[in-house]
Amino acid sequence: MSGENCFNVLDKIFIPKNKQDIENIKGYTIKYGNIVENGEIIDEVLVSYFKSPKSYTTENMCEINSHGGNVIVKKILEMCLKNGAELAEPGEFTKRAFINGRIDLLQAESVIDIINAKSEREAKTGIKQLEGFLSEKIAEIKKEIMDVMVNIEVVIDYPEYDVEDVTNKQVEDMLISVQDKLEKLEKSFDNGKIIKEGIKTVIVGRPNAGKSSLLNAILKEDRAIVTEFEGTTRDTIEEFVTINGIPLKLVDTAGIRKAKDEVEKIGIEKTKEMTKEAELVIAIFDSSEELTKEDMEILDLIKDKKTIIVLNKSDLPSKTNENDVRLKKASESIINISALNKKGIEGLYDEISKLFNLNEINLDHEIVITNLRHKNLINKANENVKKAKEALKQKMPLDIIAIFIKDILEDLGTITGEIATDDIIDEIFSKFCLGK
Ligand code: GDP
Repeated sequence: MSGENCFNVLDKIFIPKNKQDIENIKGYTIKYGNIVENGEIIDEVLVSYFKSPKSYTTENMCEINSHGGNVIVKKILEMCLKNGAELAEPGEFTKRAFINGRIDLLQAESVIDIINAKSEREAKTGIKQLEGFLSEKIAEIKKEIMDVMVNIEVVIDYPEYDVEDVTNKQVEDMLISVQDKLEKLEKSFDNGKIIKEGIKTVIVGRPNAGKSSLLNAILKEDRAIVTEFEGTTRDTIEEFVTINGIPLKLVDTAGIRKAKDEVEKIGIEKTKEMTKEAELVIAIFDSSEELTKEDMEILDLIKDKKTIIVLNKSDLPSKTNENDVRLKKASESIINISALNKKGIEGLYDEISKLFNLNEINLDHEIVITNLRHKNLINKANENVKKAKEALKQKMPLDIIAIFIKDILEDLGTITGEIATDDIIDEIFSKFCLGK
């Protein structure tokens, strides 16, 4: 519960073991006691107290930790509501944190991103945004503009000072610098190519399915930029490949190569180990043969993974095809290739593009835009920079140029929420789930 009166509501339903007046309870404390209705104990709980302004919403807050299970939780919720609390809207806690000025809109949006993150890297980007890195960057750009804006106002208000030429030069320098920064930010959105790690990828398949042939086909691809890394142990090599802007870190390629020369091929145990950490599994099957028991075991291992099923040896008569339900059950992405003739490799890349939203892929040390709303506003700001530059070139008076510059500031202010309208705010918070 959050809000000025939340402790009053709590007081009606919670009996702590050591009762104290609320004034005497410090923030960040936890009290043990019972939730009680008409003298009857409903549950034994722990209650955390947060006192304004030191809470998520900056309001008084308390959290009741009951035993899990729907019945008790629902009952306690009902009791809160009966005693004066109101059910929160989706995202209301975060919305209050924003409205009360504890976080800006960018940070509020990062909370959604963290909750919805599909990958660890995406969550990490969300955390960075929550910490305020992007907000700081935007503030920095705004300050650069404001500094010059002050001088423009002087020229407009005191034309007799005759500092217009100096100011024009300042405006021009500022616009060039701001444009550069905005373009970098904008590019970070489309650009999954600013990549450090790549998608952790393994190629699995039973002996002779064509793993090493496929690996070679990928690595020898003209457009592939290949870098080889020694793994931590002598037996692992990781190869980093960027194809069509898609970064892949092919893991354990040494194993695939080594297996060629040795009697011992990559077994099921090894496959299990390899797929465990993989973000993408390329599972290769020999389409010129029926699926074997070993193939079935592999299909079972990969069914919960992001997997592309590759039916190899499409140059030979087919005994297994993409309509096989056993394959379909394991993955929706099934493609045919001939690794030997390097046919169909393009289809593999297309599947990878489809499976991975490239926005997930960011450099750890770079500020990256992942949100379309931000990208659009940065783009709009950039358009206004261009207009201002053009106006400057046309030798338009500074008060006209000032209008464009104010538009840039407005776009940037809308990103952080300083001047966002209620519609925008409502739309953003509607994407939250309840209780966040
Ligand atoms: P691995 O044991 O899974 O690494 O499989 P390899 O890549 O070593 O391939 C096993 C055998 O199948 C080799 O003799 C390859 O030349 C052959 N092979 C691989 N891909 C194809 C293909 O697309 N078509 C045909 N006809 N043979 C292939």
